Amino acid sequence: MTTARTAVPDVIALTQRLIRFDTTNPPGREADCVRFVHGLLTEAGVASTLVAKDPSRPNLVARLPGRGVAPPLLLHAHVDVVPTEGQAWSHPPFSGDLRDDHVWGRGAIDMKGSLASMLVALLGLHARGTPPAGDVLLAVVADEENGSAVGARHLVQDHPHLFDGVAYAVGEDGGASLELDGSRRVHPIVVAEKRAVWLRATFRGPAGHASRIPPEHSVPRRLNRLLDALAGGGLGPRPGAVTHRMLTALAAAHPGPLGEALLRFRDDPADLSALKPLSERDALFLRSISQHTANPTVIAGGTRTNVIPGEMSVDIDGRLLPGDFTADDFISALRAKAGFPLDIEVLVEGEPMPEPVLGPFYERLAGVLREADPDGVPVPMMTTASTDARLFPQLGISSYGFMPLLIPAGSGYRDLLHAPDERIPFAALHFGVHCFEQLLLSYP
Ligand SMILES: [Zn+2]
Repeated sequence: MTTARTAVPDVIALTQRLIRFDTTNPPGREADCVRFVHGLLTEAGVASTLVAKDPSRPNLVARLPGRGVAPPLLLHAHVDVVPTEGQAWSHPPFSGDLRDDHVWGRGAIDMKGSLASMLVALLGLHARGTPPAGDVLLAVVADEENGSAVGARHLVQDHPHLFDGVAYAVGEDGGASLELDGSRRVHPIVVAEKRAVWLRATFRGPAGHASRIPPEHSVPRRLNRLLDALAGGGLGPRPGAVTHRMLTALAAAHPGPLGEALLRFRDDPADLSALKPLSERDALFLRSISQHTANPTVIAGGTRTNVIPGEMSVDIDGRLLPGDFTADDFISALRAKAGFPLDIEVLVEGEPMPEPVLGPFYERLAGVLREADPDGVPVPMMTTASTDARLFPQLGISSYGFMPLLIPAGSGYRDLLHAPDERIPFAALHFGVHCFEQLLLSYP
């Protein structure tokens, strides 16, 4: 057994180091960053393998041996980040500057800070010679922000044996967050993700002069009817068990008018007046996780202002709740809502998401957070975004979004994902290390 035990890195310096690799995706260029992590693990005597579909964009899977009394646990983190162009940053986004007790830079929250916390926790356990109950796998992947084709999807589809026996996976939280009144720190534990179904509706009809009202079956009039039908943002309330449990937990943590409002919305999600005590941001988030949503995003067609076009199209970003509602069901529902036949093609269909499981592993994650932050409230949540967590269920692995951050209640740090001036407080990083250590030590 290799026991070349070196000093465990400092989580702040490590986050800074990871941010300084410009892994903007596209194009990604994750190789230097992944090889850096590979070097760190190798130096510490933790075995890791590089797995690449595109040699310039490798992934890494490390294994910290456990005592063999529990199934392996998977931690996964992506090293690519979203572009910064067109954003006004007060510090260069890849400088990793340390200022005001924060590490600044693209990826600080999403999710190099989290990767640094996972690494420090894992290397710390290894250095102290305290093996976890089961093996801990750490997958460090490319390409999460742009479809995962050379990242987690490649691992799951082409190297499934790497994850033999894994029952649970832990990754990012996909930006699920609620600020509420800022009186309690809410720790999201993401147990479900919505999945993307992107569509294109194409309209064809008689072209003509735009100075007169065109016939009912013309392109503009049918397009308008579809846009009218989508004006509410979705197909209407259809909340599931996760939203119910989340609202119950939040209401208990916020007694008074806010808690009552959350319970009213829980019991009648069509009653939007219930959401009045919430900010618009929080109200829209709650509504978004209570229904299948559909937003028109790209409208194409037409040549001149005074010509009724013979063809136009509208792209629709649909996000479906977990469960058995299919893309075909979604298209049928849109047709019914529009009230006329629609020519629709599917552009992108995300992996079907199973109904979430809030079993003993959820309780473990919540327990870690409760112990580490007795004032905080762990809450099961759904995220509207998709992360790599959508891929591991194909291997029978239950995936959870767990990004432990000690940040002031209502501070909005999770809103800095993909935004300018992304940064993470030092305290949040230390908290993350502690929580991952406790998870590895207390698992299962
Ligand atoms: Zn992310």
